[in-house]
Amino acid sequence: MPTPPLSKNDQINIVGAGIFGLSTALHLTRRGYKYVTVFDKQPYDTTQYSYFKGCDGASADINKIIRSAYGSQTEYQQLSTEAIASWKQWNSDLENGIDVPEGMSRADRVFIQCGSLNLTDGDELPEFEKATIKNMEDAGHIDTQLITTNREHYTIAQSRGMGPAMDPFLREKRGKSNVGVLDSTGGVAIADKACRLALQKARKFGARFVLDPSAGAFDGFMTTSGGDIIGIQTKDGIRHPAKLTIMACGGWTPSLLPDLDGLCEATAGSVIIYKIPRTSSLWERFSPGQFPTWLWKVRDGAEGGLYGFPRDENGYLKIGYRGTKYTNPQRQNDGVERSVPITRWTEDRQLRKIPSQAMKVLRRFVAEYIPELADEGLQIQTTRVCWYTDSFDNHFFIDHVPGKAGLFVATGGSGHAFKYLPNIGNWVVDAIEGIGQERAAIQAWRWRELGGQKASNALMEGTKGARSLSNVSLTDEQDTRSKL
Ligand SMILES: Cc1cc2nc3c(=O)[nH]c(=O)nc-3n(C[C@H](O)[C@H](O)[C@H](O)COP(=O)(O)OP(=O)(O)OC[C@H]3O[C@@H](n4cnc5c(N)ncnc54)[C@H](O)[C@@H]3O)c2cc1C
Repeated sequence: MPTPPLSKNDQINIVGAGIFGLSTALHLTRRGYKYVTVFDKQPYDTTQYSYFKGCDGASADINKIIRSAYGSQTEYQQLSTEAIASWKQWNSDLENGIDVPEGMSRADRVFIQCGSLNLTDGDELPEFEKATIKNMEDAGHIDTQLITTNREHYTIAQSRGMGPAMDPFLREKRGKSNVGVLDSTGGVAIADKACRLALQKARKFGARFVLDPSAGAFDGFMTTSGGDIIGIQTKDGIRHPAKLTIMACGGWTPSLLPDLDGLCEATAGSVIIYKIPRTSSLWERFSPGQFPTWLWKVRDGAEGGLYGFPRDENGYLKIGYRGTKYTNPQRQNDGVERSVPITRWTEDRQLRKIPSQAMKVLRRFVAEYIPELADEGLQIQTTRVCWYTDSFDNHFFIDHVPGKAGLFVATGGSGHAFKYLPNIGNWVVDAIEGIGQERAAIQAWRWRELGGQKASNALMEGTKGARSLSNVSLTDEQDTRSKL
């Protein structure tokens, strides 16, 4: 039976307070839904979405890239345009003191428009970048995509204070190739602070949050004899009836919801973090005023797939690798192997290393593109594996779960959903209410099967798969210098 229409007085449970859960709570309450409760096992009011304080959701991070550059996927390009306008509004809300979470100040910003640079090591721009340039121009965003080898574009970048972002690795000065495109609409989201701001906004509109390792932790569904979902039970044994339950547990969703078998899987990206001392000459060089977010050979497989950020306010310089995304298949009670996130902070077993392949590509890049780090004697401070929720086609999953009235999913971020924190929930509510179903994005996010098409991401290869963490060597960079 399909989920019956909701009234504004119905109880809605959201499981997961990452960006999908937060944004959905914000937009449901904004539209007048009175009884929205968000459950999370993370006590975010104390851990503040900080990886350093024990958070391991994908959204709980120092920073994330914001970009409009989406090649031919104009539905995401439009969504980014909408999101960027909201990010600017959120900055104004902070500046004007409209919403300032505890521990933050009016001087804080959640989005810095420092540009987002897509670099290749080839001589020519990849087709993806060419498509972005065309589609952004077609949409009226003229001269926003600045080609690094084009002198006129350099002048435009300079006039917008983005000159250094056109060659952040000083390639020209070093006599090396610097072929890429600066998406000047993009930049960096200050991820942890943005989540705290979203949480505060949702609370202001009336959403209730249960953020606790026991009272907030999903332990199972309340079901009817026909298999429909009428609420959840949390780890403390309490039952929470609801007309609609929305599962938004990021990388944990596929192992909590077997309906997603073959459709979504938790996969790990690898991250290294340096720390630039305030006294270093590199402090200014890597500041968001001088340095963009960047992606390098991001669609080029195991030997590429790097991205990075300007240093943050504490000097952390983060670089990530997604050229190979790893899995952690675990046999579950029903006998099926599903990839389950394992991190520095998981309860039973922890992972404090990253795969050697990731470290090899990261080190090679740093030696070639950022030799200053070694020149200044800076070493990796810490590493992280961060869990994506990959769908087979890289589109999100935002829909009612077939055959289970009362259950909805908002997941499948596939490594690119953070930038939509301010607006994705509005689309989730549209999908719940059945509004604007013909729109390309909503169509792309519907419940779907792989069918005959070739998957962008091969899923559920299990312990036999080459990307299973059990089959890859891990770096011996044990991270002993970490203060964690
Ligand atoms: C390495 C990496 C880099 C990325 N970079 C970018 C980027 O630069 N730009 C961008 O736009 N996107 C980026 N993304 C993607 C983006 O971070 C994700 O799409 C987004 O954060 C996913 O949000 P979520 O709400 O689905 O999941 P999460 O943020 O993981 O949140 C899931 C929540 O569910 C909770 N939960 C889990 N199990 C339970 C349970 N049993 N009970 C209660 N709560 C539970 C968790 O504690 C967590 O808070 C990146 C992702 C990764 C992994």
